[in-house]
Amino acid sequence: MTTPFLGRAIIIGGSIGGTLAAAAIADHFREVVLIERDELPTEPVFRKGVPQGAHFHALLAAGRAAMDSLLPGFSDHAFEMGAVRLDSAQDVMRLDRVGWSPRFESGLEFLMASRPLIEKALRDKAAELDGVQYRSGVEVAGLIGADGRVTGVRTTNGEELSADLVIDASGRFSESPTWLQALGYPTPREEVVNAHWGYSSTFLEVPEDWDPGFQALALTAFGDGALTPESASRAMAMWVVEGERRWILTAQGSAGDHPPRTEEKLRDFISSIGVPELDKALSQVTFPEKISMWRDTRSRLRDFAGQPERPECFLAIGDAWMGFNPVYGQGMTAAALEASDLRTELAAHLTERTDELTGLAGRYYAKADALIKYCWTSSNTLDHRIPGVEYTVDGVAQEVDPTSSDFSDRLAAYMALDPERYVRYRETTQLLRSPEWLAGDEIVDAVRERWDELGKAVVPR
Ligand SMILES: Cc1cc2nc3c(=O)[nH]c(=O)nc-3n(C[C@H](O)[C@H](O)[C@H](O)COP(=O)(O)OP(=O)(O)OC[C@H]3O[C@@H](n4cnc5c(N)ncnc54)[C@H](O)[C@@H]3O)c2cc1C
Repeated sequence: MTTPFLGRAIIIGGSIGGTLAAAAIADHFREVVLIERDELPTEPVFRKGVPQGAHFHALLAAGRAAMDSLLPGFSDHAFEMGAVRLDSAQDVMRLDRVGWSPRFESGLEFLMASRPLIEKALRDKAAELDGVQYRSGVEVAGLIGADGRVTGVRTTNGEELSADLVIDASGRFSESPTWLQALGYPTPREEVVNAHWGYSSTFLEVPEDWDPGFQALALTAFGDGALTPESASRAMAMWVVEGERRWILTAQGSAGDHPPRTEEKLRDFISSIGVPELDKALSQVTFPEKISMWRDTRSRLRDFAGQPERPECFLAIGDAWMGFNPVYGQGMTAAALEASDLRTELAAHLTERTDELTGLAGRYYAKADALIKYCWTSSNTLDHRIPGVEYTVDGVAQEVDPTSSDFSDRLAAYMALDPERYVRYRETTQLLRSPEWLAGDEIVDAVRERWDELGKAVVPR
Protein backbone atom coordinates (compact mmCIF):
# COMPACT_ATOMS: atom_id res chain seq x y z
CA MET A 1 0.00 0.00 0.00
CA THR A 2 1.45 3.33 -1.10
CA THR A 3 0.64 6.63 0.63
CA PRO A 4 -1.97 8.49 -1.39
CA PHE A 5 -0.83 11.96 -2.36
CA LEU A 6 -3.29 12.90 -5.06
CA GLY A 7 -6.50 14.56 -3.89
CA ARG A 8 -9.82 13.52 -5.37
CA ALA A 9 -10.79 11.39 -8.34
CA ILE A 10 -14.35 11.39 -9.62
CA ILE A 11 -15.73 8.42 -11.51
CA ILE A 12 -18.97 8.87 -13.43
CA GLY A 13 -20.94 5.62 -13.05
CA GLY A 14 -20.79 3.12 -10.19
CA SER A 15 -21.19 -0.04 -12.24
CA ILE A 16 -18.57 -2.58 -13.28
CA GLY A 17 -16.27 -0.26 -15.25
CA GLY A 18 -16.44 2.46 -12.59
CA THR A 19 -15.86 0.08 -9.71
CA LEU A 20 -12.84 -1.51 -11.38
CA ALA A 21 -11.44 1.93 -12.23
CA ALA A 22 -11.80 2.88 -8.55
CA ALA A 23 -9.86 -0.24 -7.56
CA ALA A 24 -7.15 0.63 -10.10
CA ILE A 25 -6.48 4.11 -8.72
CA ALA A 26 -7.52 3.97 -5.05
CA ASP A 27 -3.96 3.56 -3.74
CA HIS A 28 -2.94 6.95 -5.07
CA PHE A 29 -5.91 9.19 -4.20
CA ARG A 30 -7.08 10.35 -0.82
CA GLU A 31 -10.64 10.20 -2.12
CA VAL A 32 -12.27 8.30 -4.99
CA VAL A 33 -15.91 9.31 -5.46
CA LEU A 34 -18.14 7.22 -7.72
CA ILE A 35 -21.14 9.26 -8.79
CA GLU A 36 -24.01 6.98 -9.75
CA ARG A 37 -27.41 8.16 -10.88
CA ASP A 38 -29.22 5.05 -9.57
CA GLU A 39 -29.85 4.40 -5.91
CA LEU A 40 -27.52 1.43 -5.56
CA PRO A 41 -29.29 -1.63 -4.12
CA THR A 42 -27.93 -3.46 -1.09
CA GLU A 43 -28.80 -6.83 -2.68
CA PRO A 44 -27.60 -8.26 -6.02
CA VAL A 45 -30.73 -7.28 -7.92
CA PHE A 46 -31.66 -5.66 -11.21
CA ARG A 47 -31.53 -1.85 -11.35
CA LYS A 48 -32.75 0.47 -14.06
CA GLY A 49 -29.42 2.19 -14.86
CA VAL A 50 -28.08 -1.19 -16.03
CA PRO A 51 -30.96 -2.63 -18.04
CA GLN A 52 -28.66 -5.27 -19.55
CA GLY A 53 -28.59 -6.86 -16.08
CA ALA A 54 -31.62 -8.95 -17.04
CA HIS A 55 -29.62 -10.72 -19.77
CA PHE A 56 -27.02 -13.43 -19.59
CA HIS A 57 -23.48 -12.23 -18.95
CA ALA A 58 -20.49 -14.48 -19.66
CA LEU A 59 -17.40 -13.52 -17.71
CA LEU A 60 -14.29 -14.46 -19.66
CA ALA A 61 -11.47 -16.07 -17.67
CA ALA A 62 -9.15 -13.11 -18.24
CA GLY A 63 -11.80 -10.73 -16.94
CA ARG A 64 -12.22 -12.74 -13.79
CA ALA A 65 -8.45 -12.93 -13.24
CA ALA A 66 -8.14 -9.16 -13.69
CA MET A 67 -11.04 -8.57 -11.30
CA ASP A 68 -9.35 -10.78 -8.68
CA SER A 69 -6.11 -8.92 -9.14
CA LEU A 70 -7.75 -5.49 -8.83
CA LEU A 71 -10.07 -6.52 -6.01
CA PRO A 72 -8.52 -9.51 -4.23
CA GLY A 73 -11.15 -11.92 -2.92
CA PHE A 74 -13.73 -11.01 -5.60
CA SER A 75 -14.22 -14.61 -6.83
CA ASP A 76 -14.45 -16.08 -3.32
CA HIS A 77 -16.99 -13.46 -2.38
CA ALA A 78 -19.00 -14.12 -5.56
CA PHE A 79 -19.00 -17.87 -4.81
CA GLU A 80 -20.16 -17.16 -1.24
CA MET A 81 -23.00 -15.12 -2.73
CA GLY A 82 -24.07 -18.04 -4.93
CA ALA A 83 -21.95 -17.93 -8.11
CA VAL A 84 -21.19 -21.35 -9.60
CA ARG A 85 -17.91 -22.94 -10.78
CA LEU A 86 -17.86 -24.81 -14.10
CA ASP A 87 -15.18 -26.49 -16.14
CA SER A 88 -15.08 -24.57 -19.41
CA ALA A 89 -15.02 -27.71 -21.58
CA GLN A 90 -16.45 -30.52 -19.42
CA ASP A 91 -19.58 -28.78 -18.18
CA VAL A 92 -20.36 -26.69 -21.25
CA MET A 93 -22.15 -27.99 -24.33
CA ARG A 94 -21.12 -25.62 -27.08
CA LEU A 95 -22.12 -25.61 -30.74
CA ASP A 96 -20.60 -23.03 -33.03
CA ARG A 97 -19.94 -22.80 -36.73
CA VAL A 98 -17.31 -25.50 -36.58
CA GLY A 99 -19.52 -28.00 -34.78
CA TRP A 100 -19.75 -29.30 -31.22
CA SER A 101 -16.81 -28.40 -29.03
CA PRO A 102 -14.96 -31.31 -27.40
CA ARG A 103 -15.94 -32.01 -23.79
CA PHE A 104 -13.18 -33.01 -21.38
CA GLU A 105 -11.71 -31.91 -18.05
CA SER A 106 -9.88 -28.78 -19.19
CA GLY A 107 -8.92 -27.28 -15.83
CA LEU A 108 -10.04 -23.89 -17.13
CA GLU A 109 -12.68 -22.78 -14.64
CA PHE A 110 -15.60 -20.45 -15.32
CA LEU A 111 -17.39 -18.31 -12.75
CA MET A 112 -21.09 -18.23 -13.65
CA ALA A 113 -23.38 -15.66 -12.09
CA SER A 114 -25.99 -13.11 -13.01
CA ARG A 115 -24.84 -9.61 -13.98
CA PRO A 116 -26.27 -8.06 -10.77
CA LEU A 117 -24.34 -10.57 -8.63
CA ILE A 118 -21.02 -9.90 -10.39
CA GLU A 119 -21.49 -6.14 -10.02
CA LYS A 120 -22.50 -6.37 -6.36
CA ALA A 121 -19.59 -8.68 -5.48
CA LEU A 122 -17.18 -6.19 -7.06
CA ARG A 123 -18.82 -3.22 -5.35
CA ASP A 124 -18.66 -4.90 -1.93
CA LYS A 125 -14.93 -5.41 -2.38
CA ALA A 126 -14.31 -1.87 -3.65
CA ALA A 127 -16.25 -0.37 -0.76
CA GLU A 128 -13.66 -1.91 1.58
CA LEU A 129 -10.88 0.18 0.01
CA ASP A 130 -9.67 3.27 1.87
CA GLY A 131 -11.06 6.47 0.41
CA VAL A 132 -13.54 4.86 -2.00
CA GLN A 133 -17.13 6.08 -1.67
CA TYR A 134 -20.26 5.71 -3.78
CA ARG A 135 -22.58 8.71 -4.08
CA SER A 136 -25.75 7.20 -5.43
CA GLY A 137 -28.83 8.94 -6.73
CA VAL A 138 -26.71 11.73 -8.30
CA GLU A 139 -26.45 12.29 -12.05
CA VAL A 140 -23.56 14.01 -13.81
CA ALA A 141 -24.66 16.61 -16.37
CA GLY A 142 -21.32 17.77 -17.76
CA LEU A 143 -17.59 18.32 -17.36
CA ILE A 144 -15.83 21.40 -16.03
CA GLY A 145 -12.52 22.30 -17.62
CA ALA A 146 -9.82 24.96 -17.68
CA ASP A 147 -6.30 25.35 -19.11
CA GLY A 148 -6.35 22.18 -21.20
CA ARG A 149 -7.62 19.89 -18.46
CA VAL A 150 -10.82 18.61 -16.99
CA THR A 151 -11.09 19.90 -13.46
CA GLY A 152 -14.39 18.46 -12.28
CA VAL A 153 -18.00 17.63 -13.03
CA ARG A 154 -21.36 19.33 -12.78
CA THR A 155 -24.38 17.41 -11.56
CA THR A 156 -27.99 17.76 -12.63
CA ASN A 157 -28.82 19.37 -9.28
CA GLY A 158 -26.35 22.17 -10.03
CA GLU A 159 -23.54 20.99 -7.77
CA GLU A 160 -19.96 21.47 -9.01
CA LEU A 161 -17.34 19.02 -7.78
CA SER A 162 -13.64 19.50 -8.44
CA ALA A 163 -11.26 16.62 -9.10
CA ASP A 164 -7.64 15.91 -10.06
CA LEU A 165 -8.88 13.14 -12.36
CA VAL A 166 -12.30 12.45 -13.90
CA ILE A 167 -13.08 9.00 -15.33
CA ASP A 168 -16.10 8.38 -17.52
CA ALA A 169 -17.56 4.95 -16.72
CA SER A 170 -21.12 5.85 -17.61
CA GLY A 171 -21.60 3.02 -20.08
CA ARG A 172 -22.68 2.64 -23.69
CA PHE A 173 -24.90 5.73 -23.67
CA SER A 174 -22.13 7.98 -22.31
CA GLU A 175 -22.52 11.65 -23.13
CA SER A 176 -18.79 12.38 -22.97
CA PRO A 177 -18.45 13.28 -26.65
CA THR A 178 -21.03 16.05 -26.20
CA TRP A 179 -19.51 17.14 -22.91
CA LEU A 180 -16.05 17.34 -24.48
CA GLN A 181 -17.46 19.31 -27.38
CA ALA A 182 -18.95 21.80 -24.92
CA LEU A 183 -15.41 22.35 -23.60
CA GLY A 184 -14.17 23.02 -27.15
CA TYR A 185 -12.61 19.62 -27.95
CA PRO A 186 -13.33 17.56 -31.05
CA THR A 187 -15.50 14.50 -30.49
CA PRO A 188 -13.69 11.18 -30.92
CA ARG A 189 -14.12 9.39 -34.23
CA GLU A 190 -17.01 6.96 -33.86
CA GLU A 191 -17.25 3.55 -35.56
CA VAL A 192 -20.49 1.61 -35.34
CA VAL A 193 -21.23 -1.94 -36.49
CA ASN A 194 -24.84 -3.04 -36.34
CA ALA A 195 -25.76 -6.60 -37.23
CA HIS A 196 -29.24 -5.99 -35.79
CA TRP A 197 -29.06 -8.55 -33.02
CA GLY A 198 -31.85 -8.67 -30.44
CA TYR A 199 -32.11 -10.48 -27.10
CA SER A 200 -34.91 -12.01 -25.07
CA SER A 201 -33.98 -13.36 -21.66
CA THR A 202 -35.59 -14.86 -18.62
CA PHE A 203 -34.65 -16.72 -15.48
CA LEU A 204 -35.69 -20.37 -15.24
CA GLU A 205 -36.72 -22.58 -12.40
CA VAL A 206 -35.40 -26.09 -12.83
CA PRO A 207 -36.35 -29.33 -11.01
CA GLU A 208 -34.46 -30.36 -7.89
CA ASP A 209 -31.25 -32.33 -8.67
CA TRP A 210 -31.73 -31.52 -12.34
CA ASP A 211 -29.16 -32.98 -14.72
CA PRO A 212 -29.80 -32.08 -18.36
CA GLY A 213 -26.30 -33.27 -19.35
CA PHE A 214 -24.73 -29.82 -19.18
CA GLN A 215 -24.43 -26.95 -16.79
CA ALA A 216 -24.16 -24.44 -19.59
CA LEU A 217 -25.34 -24.62 -23.17
CA ALA A 218 -24.23 -22.14 -25.82
CA LEU A 219 -25.47 -22.45 -29.40
CA THR A 220 -23.96 -19.97 -31.81
CA ALA A 221 -23.96 -21.95 -35.05
CA PHE A 222 -25.72 -19.18 -36.90
CA GLY A 223 -25.19 -18.55 -40.60
CA ASP A 224 -24.14 -21.45 -42.81
CA GLY A 225 -23.38 -23.59 -39.77
CA ALA A 226 -26.95 -23.57 -38.46
CA LEU A 227 -28.63 -26.93 -37.90
CA THR A 228 -31.95 -25.82 -39.40
CA PRO A 229 -32.71 -23.29 -42.15
CA GLU A 230 -34.96 -21.17 -39.91
CA SER A 231 -32.27 -20.81 -37.26
CA ALA A 232 -29.58 -19.37 -39.55
CA SER A 233 -29.96 -16.04 -37.76
CA ARG A 234 -30.45 -17.47 -34.27
CA ALA A 235 -28.38 -18.28 -31.21
CA MET A 236 -29.04 -18.97 -27.54
CA ALA A 237 -27.42 -19.72 -24.23
CA MET A 238 -28.59 -21.02 -20.90
CA TRP A 239 -26.74 -21.79 -17.71
CA VAL A 240 -26.90 -22.08 -14.01
CA VAL A 241 -26.35 -18.71 -12.39
CA GLU A 242 -27.00 -18.76 -8.68
CA GLY A 243 -27.39 -21.74 -6.40
CA GLU A 244 -28.50 -24.94 -8.09
CA ARG A 245 -31.97 -24.13 -9.31
CA ARG A 246 -31.75 -20.67 -10.85
CA TRP A 247 -30.75 -20.65 -14.48
CA ILE A 248 -30.77 -17.86 -17.03
CA LEU A 249 -31.84 -18.31 -20.63
CA THR A 250 -31.10 -15.86 -23.40
CA ALA A 251 -32.24 -16.19 -27.01
CA GLN A 252 -30.55 -14.05 -29.66
CA GLY A 253 -31.54 -13.27 -33.21
CA SER A 254 -29.50 -11.35 -35.79
CA ALA A 255 -30.41 -9.46 -38.96
CA GLY A 256 -33.61 -8.23 -37.31
CA ASP A 257 -34.90 -11.75 -36.55
CA HIS A 258 -35.44 -10.79 -32.93
CA PRO A 259 -36.64 -13.30 -30.34
CA PRO A 260 -40.17 -12.72 -29.04
CA ARG A 261 -41.46 -11.69 -25.61
CA THR A 262 -44.10 -14.29 -24.83
CA GLU A 263 -43.19 -17.66 -23.35
CA GLU A 264 -44.89 -19.75 -25.99
CA LYS A 265 -43.30 -17.91 -28.91
CA LEU A 266 -39.93 -17.82 -27.20
CA ARG A 267 -40.02 -21.59 -26.69
CA ASP A 268 -40.79 -22.01 -30.41
CA PHE A 269 -37.98 -19.65 -31.39
CA ILE A 270 -35.47 -21.63 -29.31
CA SER A 271 -36.77 -24.97 -30.44
CA SER A 272 -36.21 -23.95 -34.08
CA ILE A 273 -32.45 -24.24 -33.45
CA GLY A 274 -32.89 -28.01 -33.72
CA VAL A 275 -30.99 -29.43 -30.73
CA PRO A 276 -32.90 -32.35 -29.10
CA GLU A 277 -31.03 -32.01 -25.75
CA LEU A 278 -32.25 -28.41 -25.58
CA ASP A 279 -35.84 -29.31 -26.39
CA LYS A 280 -35.81 -31.98 -23.70
CA ALA A 281 -34.28 -29.61 -21.13
CA LEU A 282 -36.80 -26.88 -21.89
CA SER A 283 -39.70 -29.29 -21.48
CA GLN A 284 -38.60 -29.77 -17.84
CA VAL A 285 -38.28 -26.13 -16.74
CA THR A 286 -40.65 -23.27 -15.98
CA PHE A 287 -40.38 -19.58 -16.82
CA PRO A 288 -41.51 -18.01 -13.53
CA GLU A 289 -40.12 -14.53 -14.23
CA LYS A 290 -40.84 -11.98 -16.90
CA ILE A 291 -39.13 -12.06 -20.28
CA SER A 292 -36.84 -9.06 -20.86
CA MET A 293 -35.88 -7.73 -24.28
CA TRP A 294 -32.80 -5.86 -25.54
CA ARG A 295 -32.57 -4.45 -29.04
CA ASP A 296 -29.66 -1.99 -29.23
CA THR A 297 -26.74 -4.36 -29.74
CA ARG A 298 -24.59 -2.05 -31.86
CA SER A 299 -20.85 -2.25 -31.33
CA ARG A 300 -19.69 1.31 -30.88
CA LEU A 301 -16.05 2.37 -30.65
CA ARG A 302 -15.33 5.94 -29.67
CA ASP A 303 -11.71 6.30 -30.63
CA PHE A 304 -10.47 8.17 -27.56
CA ALA A 305 -7.02 6.68 -28.17
CA GLY A 306 -6.80 8.27 -31.61
CA GLN A 307 -8.08 11.72 -30.63
CA PRO A 308 -5.77 14.39 -32.02
CA GLU A 309 -6.65 16.75 -29.21
CA ARG A 310 -7.93 15.85 -25.78
CA PRO A 311 -8.02 17.42 -22.34
CA GLU A 312 -5.71 16.12 -19.64
CA CYS A 313 -7.02 14.52 -16.46
CA PHE A 314 -9.96 12.88 -18.17
CA LEU A 315 -10.32 9.36 -19.50
CA ALA A 316 -13.00 6.84 -20.44
CA ILE A 317 -13.27 3.18 -19.47
CA GLY A 318 -15.60 0.27 -20.19
CA ASP A 319 -18.57 0.70 -22.46
CA ALA A 320 -18.11 4.48 -22.50
CA TRP A 321 -14.98 3.81 -24.58
CA MET A 322 -16.16 0.78 -26.51
CA GLY A 323 -19.61 -0.74 -26.16
CA PHE A 324 -19.49 -4.20 -27.74
CA ASN A 325 -22.11 -6.21 -29.47
CA PRO A 326 -22.87 -8.27 -26.34
CA VAL A 327 -23.19 -11.55 -28.28
CA TYR A 328 -19.42 -12.00 -28.01
CA GLY A 329 -19.29 -11.54 -24.23
CA GLN A 330 -16.32 -9.17 -24.06
CA GLY A 331 -17.61 -6.05 -22.26
CA MET A 332 -16.92 -6.80 -18.59
CA THR A 333 -13.58 -8.39 -19.43
CA ALA A 334 -12.48 -5.44 -21.55
CA ALA A 335 -13.39 -3.09 -18.67
CA ALA A 336 -11.33 -5.20 -16.24
CA LEU A 337 -8.31 -5.34 -18.55
CA GLU A 338 -8.51 -1.59 -19.20
CA ALA A 339 -8.60 -1.00 -15.44
CA SER A 340 -5.50 -3.19 -15.05
CA ASP A 341 -3.74 -1.11 -17.67
CA LEU A 342 -4.83 2.06 -15.90
CA ARG A 343 -3.36 0.78 -12.64
CA THR A 344 -0.05 -0.04 -14.36
CA GLU A 345 0.16 3.25 -16.22
CA LEU A 346 -0.81 5.39 -13.23
CA ALA A 347 1.87 3.72 -11.09
CA ALA A 348 4.45 4.20 -13.86
CA HIS A 349 3.41 7.81 -14.38
CA LEU A 350 3.78 8.55 -10.69
CA THR A 351 7.35 7.26 -10.63
CA GLU A 352 8.16 10.02 -13.14
CA ARG A 353 5.87 12.83 -11.96
CA THR A 354 4.37 12.99 -8.55
CA ASP A 355 2.71 16.38 -8.72
CA GLU A 356 0.16 16.03 -11.50
CA LEU A 357 -1.39 13.80 -14.12
CA THR A 358 -0.52 15.42 -17.46
CA GLY A 359 0.13 12.61 -19.93
CA LEU A 360 -1.70 9.91 -17.97
CA ALA A 361 -4.69 9.68 -20.32
CA GLY A 362 -2.39 9.35 -23.36
CA ARG A 363 -0.32 6.54 -21.90
CA TYR A 364 -3.41 4.69 -20.61
CA TYR A 365 -5.11 4.85 -24.00
CA ALA A 366 -1.92 3.78 -25.78
CA LYS A 367 -1.53 0.75 -23.51
CA ALA A 368 -5.16 -0.43 -23.52
CA ASP A 369 -5.81 0.29 -27.19
CA ALA A 370 -4.25 -2.95 -28.46
CA LEU A 371 -6.75 -5.00 -26.49
CA ILE A 372 -9.65 -2.77 -27.50
CA LYS A 373 -8.78 -3.08 -31.16
CA TYR A 374 -8.31 -6.86 -30.91
CA CYS A 375 -11.77 -7.26 -29.36
CA TRP A 376 -13.23 -4.83 -31.87
CA THR A 377 -11.79 -6.70 -34.84
CA SER A 378 -12.63 -10.17 -33.61
CA SER A 379 -16.29 -9.42 -32.92
CA ASN A 380 -16.76 -7.39 -36.09
CA THR A 381 -15.22 -10.10 -38.24
CA LEU A 382 -18.08 -12.33 -37.15
CA ASP A 383 -20.75 -9.66 -37.51
CA HIS A 384 -19.59 -8.69 -40.99
CA ARG A 385 -20.96 -11.91 -42.44
CA ILE A 386 -24.46 -11.27 -41.15
CA PRO A 387 -26.85 -10.20 -43.92
CA GLY A 388 -27.79 -6.53 -43.72
CA VAL A 389 -24.96 -5.58 -41.35
CA GLU A 390 -24.27 -1.84 -41.27
CA TYR A 391 -20.86 -0.33 -40.65
CA THR A 392 -20.40 3.42 -40.31
CA VAL A 393 -17.59 5.78 -39.41
CA ASP A 394 -18.84 9.11 -38.07
CA GLY A 395 -22.19 8.24 -39.60
CA VAL A 396 -20.80 7.51 -43.09
CA ALA A 397 -21.53 4.01 -44.46
CA GLN A 398 -18.49 1.78 -45.12
CA GLU A 399 -17.92 -1.36 -47.18
CA VAL A 400 -18.10 -4.68 -45.36
CA ASP A 401 -16.15 -7.80 -46.33
CA PRO A 402 -18.40 -10.82 -45.67
CA THR A 403 -15.50 -13.23 -46.19
CA SER A 404 -13.38 -11.68 -43.45
CA SER A 405 -14.16 -14.56 -41.09
CA ASP A 406 -13.12 -17.33 -43.51
CA PHE A 407 -9.70 -17.65 -41.93
CA SER A 408 -10.89 -17.42 -38.33
CA ASP A 409 -13.57 -20.07 -38.97
CA ARG A 410 -10.97 -22.48 -40.33
CA LEU A 411 -8.61 -21.61 -37.52
CA ALA A 412 -11.31 -22.59 -35.01
CA ALA A 413 -11.87 -25.87 -36.86
CA TYR A 414 -8.12 -26.59 -36.83
CA MET A 415 -7.88 -25.88 -33.09
CA ALA A 416 -10.67 -28.32 -32.28
CA LEU A 417 -8.68 -31.21 -33.83
CA ASP A 418 -6.31 -31.50 -30.88
CA PRO A 419 -7.33 -31.21 -27.17
CA GLU A 420 -4.10 -29.57 -26.01
CA ARG A 421 -4.18 -27.05 -28.81
CA TYR A 422 -7.87 -26.51 -28.16
CA VAL A 423 -7.26 -25.60 -24.50
CA ARG A 424 -4.60 -23.08 -25.59
CA TYR A 425 -7.06 -21.70 -28.11
CA ARG A 426 -9.81 -21.42 -25.51
CA GLU A 427 -7.36 -19.59 -23.26
CA THR A 428 -6.77 -17.16 -26.11
CA THR A 429 -10.45 -16.60 -26.82
CA GLN A 430 -10.85 -16.07 -23.07
CA LEU A 431 -8.18 -13.35 -23.49
CA LEU A 432 -5.90 -15.14 -20.99
CA ARG A 433 -3.23 -15.65 -23.64
CA SER A 434 -1.97 -13.19 -26.22
CA PRO A 435 -3.48 -13.88 -29.67
CA GLU A 436 -0.05 -13.41 -31.27
CA TRP A 437 0.68 -17.17 -31.42
CA LEU A 438 -2.37 -17.61 -33.67
CA ALA A 439 -0.76 -15.34 -36.24
CA GLY A 440 2.54 -17.28 -36.18
CA ASP A 441 3.77 -19.04 -39.35
CA GLU A 442 3.31 -22.52 -37.90
CA ILE A 443 -0.42 -22.06 -37.30
CA VAL A 444 -1.15 -19.95 -40.35
CA ASP A 445 0.65 -22.42 -42.66
CA ALA A 446 -1.17 -25.39 -41.10
CA VAL A 447 -4.54 -23.75 -41.68
CA ARG A 448 -3.66 -22.71 -45.25
CA GLU A 449 -2.45 -26.23 -46.11
CA ARG A 450 -5.78 -27.73 -45.00
CA TRP A 451 -7.96 -24.86 -46.22
CA ASP A 452 -10.52 -26.97 -48.12
CA GLU A 453 -10.65 -29.77 -45.56
CA LEU A 454 -11.15 -27.30 -42.69
CA GLY A 455 -13.64 -25.37 -44.76
CA LYS A 456 -15.87 -28.44 -44.85
CA ALA A 457 -16.27 -28.11 -41.08
CA VAL A 458 -17.81 -24.69 -41.51
CA VAL A 459 -19.84 -24.92 -44.69
CA PRO A 460 -23.56 -25.62 -44.57
CA ARG A 461 -24.56 -28.55 -42.43
C1 LIG B 1 -27.79 -7.25 -23.54
C2 LIG B 1 -26.35 -7.20 -23.07
C3 LIG B 1 -25.69 -8.38 -22.75
C4 LIG B 1 -24.36 -8.33 -22.37
N1 LIG B 1 -23.69 -9.50 -22.15
C5 LIG B 1 -22.39 -9.47 -21.77
C6 LIG B 1 -21.67 -10.67 -21.56
O1 LIG B 1 -22.15 -11.78 -21.79
N2 LIG B 1 -20.38 -10.55 -21.11
C7 LIG B 1 -19.78 -9.35 -20.89
O2 LIG B 1 -18.61 -9.31 -20.48
N3 LIG B 1 -20.43 -8.20 -21.13
C8 LIG B 1 -21.71 -8.23 -21.56
N4 LIG B 1 -22.36 -7.05 -21.79
C9 LIG B 1 -21.65 -5.78 -21.59
C10 LIG B 1 -21.58 -5.40 -20.11
O3 LIG B 1 -22.88 -5.22 -19.58
C11 LIG B 1 -20.75 -4.13 -19.93
O4 LIG B 1 -19.61 -4.18 -20.73
C12 LIG B 1 -20.31 -3.97 -18.50
O5 LIG B 1 -21.45 -3.81 -17.70
C13 LIG B 1 -19.38 -2.79 -18.24
O6 LIG B 1 -20.10 -1.67 -18.42
P1 LIG B 1 -19.80 -0.27 -17.78
O7 LIG B 1 -19.53 -0.32 -16.32
O8 LIG B 1 -18.82 0.39 -18.65
O9 LIG B 1 -21.25 0.38 -18.02
P2 LIG B 1 -22.62 -0.01 -17.37
O10 LIG B 1 -22.58 -1.30 -16.69
O11 LIG B 1 -23.65 0.19 -18.41
O12 LIG B 1 -22.79 1.09 -16.24
C14 LIG B 1 -22.88 2.47 -16.48
C15 LIG B 1 -23.28 3.10 -15.15
O13 LIG B 1 -23.22 4.50 -15.26
C16 LIG B 1 -24.38 5.06 -14.67
N5 LIG B 1 -24.58 6.36 -15.33
C17 LIG B 1 -24.83 6.57 -16.64
N6 LIG B 1 -24.88 7.89 -16.89
C18 LIG B 1 -24.63 8.52 -15.73
C19 LIG B 1 -24.53 9.89 -15.36
N7 LIG B 1 -24.70 10.87 -16.25
N8 LIG B 1 -24.27 10.19 -14.05
C20 LIG B 1 -24.10 9.20 -13.11
N9 LIG B 1 -24.18 7.88 -13.43
C21 LIG B 1 -24.43 7.55 -14.72
C22 LIG B 1 -25.47 4.03 -14.95
O14 LIG B 1 -26.56 4.16 -14.08
C23 LIG B 1 -24.70 2.73 -14.74
O15 LIG B 1 -24.68 2.34 -13.39
C24 LIG B 1 -23.69 -7.07 -22.23
C25 LIG B 1 -24.37 -5.89 -22.53
C26 LIG B 1 -25.68 -5.95 -22.99
C27 LIG B 1 -26.34 -4.67 -23.39
